[in-house]
Amino acid sequence: MSNATARVLASGARLPPMPTIRDLVKLYKLQAIKHMSQNFLMDERLTDKIVKSAGRIDAKDTVLEVGPGPGGITRSILRREPGRLVLVEKDARFMPTLELLKECARPLHTEVDIFQGDILRFDIEKHVPISEHRLHLIGNLPFAISTRLLINWLKDLSLRRGAFRRPDTAMTLTFQKEVAVRICAPLGDDQRCRLSIMSQIWTQPFLKFVIPGKAFVPKPDVDVGVVKIVPLKQPKTDLPFELVERVLRHIFNMRQKYCRRGYSTLFPPEEREEITDILFELADVDPTVRPFELSVDECLRLATVYAGYKDKHPEVADYDYRARKKPIDDCLV
Ligand code: SAM
Repeated sequence: MSNATARVLASGARLPPMPTIRDLVKLYKLQAIKHMSQNFLMDERLTDKIVKSAGRIDAKDTVLEVGPGPGGITRSILRREPGRLVLVEKDARFMPTLELLKECARPLHTEVDIFQGDILRFDIEKHVPISEHRLHLIGNLPFAISTRLLINWLKDLSLRRGAFRRPDTAMTLTFQKEVAVRICAPLGDDQRCRLSIMSQIWTQPFLKFVIPGKAFVPKPDVDVGVVKIVPLKQPKTDLPFELVERVLRHIFNMRQKYCRRGYSTLFPPEEREEITDILFELADVDPTVRPFELSVDECLRLATVYAGYKDKHPEVADYDYRARKKPIDDCLV
């Protein structure tokens, strides 16, 4: 078998023959752009493995792929023949290769829609109407926006909006390995942080596997973790997302100290110690454990008693302990 034939066969069972991703990148001179966080996956076994991590995908499903780039993962998704595939890519240089892929996918039973734009501004409700189709969000995410995108999606999930109007939308996403580990970090793990708790309040995240940096072109300085994130049928709270985020931000701001230390900075210094003592008692949480030793439930109890206090003292919502007072000398000038 010639190399060319082998490559054509490698490019997908039911997709017609296409140049390999590596050849396409060369042909269209698609050098990676650093500020777009472009690191391409050329190895079909890896792109197939990412898509396999998403679980069952068939004609009843819609897939939204973030940042398809030259289309490696896109081909692996097409081989599963979802009912619809929505591609959102910021870099206009990839439009011709994605159009080519769409053309090649004509014999399949998949409707392919390509959008050029920023996923952070993409209106999912407008472009993916709620239907009987289940939605999968899949992407080898650009590092530069991966955490922000996850936080945005967790917020959407908490409000049952955007991609999460249906309760069974699942995400299969890549993150820098350290971030992937943090998202999934269990109780007591020293990698546990605000992102772990935020993720685990609304979802169950699974670190599926790690891809070594050398598998990407160009090679990033870090390895990459593939995380499947499944929304919980019953989220662990119905407190407002921002309130929970604010409380956790304070607790984890001083991660090496007792957890009461960071929590206390939610309140002005004059009353800080007293309120913190009362609220820890009300929440039935040991104030001397470190933030990473707090369970999700304990964090939520601390958020709940803060919410109760804030209802009675609304001014506390605006308190910002980092806002520095103007030094007296400045005022004298
Ligand atoms: N999926 C391809 C692969 O695995 O080889 C490319 C992955 S690369 C890590 C990230 C992709 O996301 C690039 O194609 C990049 O242009 C695109 N991208 C970067 N920022 C984006 C944004 N804000 N919205 C949508 N796509 C973006």
